[in-house]
Amino acid sequence: MSITVRNLTKVYGAQKAINDLSFEVKTGEILGFLGPNGAGKSTTMKIITCYIPPTAGTVEIDGLNIFDHSLEVRRKIGYLPEMNPLYLDMNVLDYLEYSARLHGVGRELIGPRIKEMVGVCGLGTVRHKDIGELSKGFRQRVGLAQALLHEPEVLILDEPTSGLDPNQIVEIRNLIKQLGRAKTFVLSTHILSEVQATCDRVLIINEGTIVADGTPSQLQQDFRGAETITLELRTGATNPLEEVAPKLSALPSVAGVELSSNADSVSRFVLSVEKGSDIREDVFRLAVAEGWVLLEMTRSSTSLEEVFHKLTMS
Ligand code: ADP
Ligand code: MG
Repeated sequence: MSITVRNLTKVYGAQKAINDLSFEVKTGEILGFLGPNGAGKSTTMKIITCYIPPTAGTVEIDGLNIFDHSLEVRRKIGYLPEMNPLYLDMNVLDYLEYSARLHGVGRELIGPRIKEMVGVCGLGTVRHKDIGELSKGFRQRVGLAQALLHEPEVLILDEPTSGLDPNQIVEIRNLIKQLGRAKTFVLSTHILSEVQATCDRVLIINEGTIVADGTPSQLQQDFRGAETITLELRTGATNPLEEVAPKLSALPSVAGVELSSNADSVSRFVLSVEKGSDIREDVFRLAVAEGWVLLEMTRSSTSLEEVFHKLTMS
């Protein structure tokens, strides 16, 4: 079941929360919606799930638009809101039953569906407890169970792992991956490693607009800057800039050589290297051939972390 978002804009008073967003999510895809706080993730999700209307633009779920078919759209969607609004004085089973009725699950199906979701979401040990007594991890699982009860084909999860400890995060991720094969997922997060671990595709959003769209590895490729290699060499040269630097420059793929320090016959060079090339072996062979002592060699390239940082810095 696909999601099509077209030219979506939402204005709150003087605040433009999202500005002309367009994207598609294909059936079976797990889309990560990544952006810093205030980027517009929750606003977009609330519009897709028919909780708030857009100021302009449209959303279609499987060809049904949110204005004319809001009831049907809601039936097709499971939604875990940002502030997972659970009733703290209800016990887990009662809450799930209440949610099932709200979602229009048929009377005779309510029992079996709850039983299944309690199993899938690992709620067996806490099913008779009040939600208020549960840890954040278990509350999040109750929220997920609630979102899954009516067997929606589309799941919209707003920061599903926020506030969880590392073990709980792994469990929720696995659950999403396991379910993800059959469903269309949109999950938001402000944590980069989250999308790398879980998602097929990433949309990076900043200040209400999309700044990048692709698979995690595509984004890393597209935004990878020049690599640098830092070398520390004992060459015995009296003038390393004249005697050593030209030899380093002559290596294939080296775009620039800088002498960053030189003391006690130890020189530090920073080489800029063309994207994607690895010249460490060439450097090593050159050092051997020239009789230089290679004291240090470190390679660095732009990580997806830096890409995200660059794109969302305001
Ligand atoms: P995110 O989920 O990415 O953190 P939100 O969609 O919650 O971002 O918010 C986007 C922007 O819209 C923020 O600047 C936020 O302050 C503003 N905003 C969100 N909800 C409201 C609201 N109900 N009234 C006014 N401004 C809002
Ligand atoms: Mg949010």
